[in-house]
Amino acid sequence: AARTGGRNRVEVYDPGMRAAVQAARELEHELRGALAAGEFRLVYQPVVTLADRRVTGFEALLRWTSPRLGPVGPDRFVPAAEAAGLIDEIGAWVLREACTTAAAWRRDHPGAADMTMAVNVSAAQLASPDLVGSIAAALAESGLPAGALVVEVTETALVGDPEHAAACLAALRALGLRLALDDFGTGYSSLAHLQQFTVDVLKIDRSFVSTMAEGEPMPAIVRGTIDLGRTLGLEVLAEGVEHEHQARLLAEGNCDSAQGYLFARPLERTDAEAVLLEQVARDAAAAVPVPRAPR
Ligand code: C2E
Ligand code: MG
Ligand code: MG
Ligand code: MG
Repeated sequence: AARTGGRNRVEVYDPGMRAAVQAARELEHELRGALAAGEFRLVYQPVVTLADRRVTGFEALLRWTSPRLGPVGPDRFVPAAEAAGLIDEIGAWVLREACTTAAAWRRDHPGAADMTMAVNVSAAQLASPDLVGSIAAALAESGLPAGALVVEVTETALVGDPEHAAACLAALRALGLRLALDDFGTGYSSLAHLQQFTVDVLKIDRSFVSTMAEGEPMPAIVRGTIDLGRTLGLEVLAEGVEHEHQARLLAEGNCDSAQGYLFARPLERTDAEAVLLEQVARDAAAAVPVPRAPR
């Protein structure tokens, strides 16, 4: 790097860095028209209980297929959308779409009246004054009861401006929805967060679940996190469960629920609805009264 022009201006000459900056600019450029062009869609990953493997709901995950760049993952385009100032608009679309889908499923399938829908909210969305209003609007327009919605935030999103974050989370909970702490244990984790920010669900990050090896006891971190969550009266959900032995051990350890490739990948809308209908059918079959023996 070398100084040129006015004071405090640093021009970057490192070619790798320049390529990265250019790629970021291209991403932002392609993102600009993406919402209007209908390039986004949601996929839905089932959430299952570990005790009896019932599908209780879904997490909506955003997908973008750019006509020029092809499919781009949210880990790449969400930060770009934040940088481009587009995340509020995209996030509002995600909320409307997820709430509308959940409301339709619950309306069309009476046996699915208890299902939940979880939506991710990024740090920039949480910092924005629009968030509470846009969630309230999505609930009102879709008719989805607030109790069916889970809003997922990461700890990292809370630490920037903890006072604002706490007020925002309190306003969201006042709407009647539930809050989940996503990727728990990564980033700037602190037990104080659990005291300062009231949440309902603790999501154990996939990186911890992946340390659970076949034939070995529960890693102390996972055991401790489950116990911590349960002691605080929270629902504990394990992310990224890929193997049967992990699911069994988590169930034995009293973890409430899980998501992961073992159960289902994120599914296109119609495939997710089919999974929901299978669950409704299983529930109905289980509810059939056992015929009494004739006397
Ligand atoms: P997340 O909320 O922690 O979502 C979990 C990620 O793990 C998802 O990646 C999901 O596809 C993936 N996953 C689920 N089960 C497994 C498994 O068993 N094994 C492995 N290896 N991966 C699994 P995805 O969809 O690429 O999303 C990445 C992140 O992008 C999300 O992490 C979330 O932070 C963010 N994101 C996704 N959708 C949205 C959205 O609508 N809005 C915002 N603001 N962020 C979003
Ligand atoms: Mg999430
Ligand atoms: Mg996560
Ligand atoms: Mg994540």
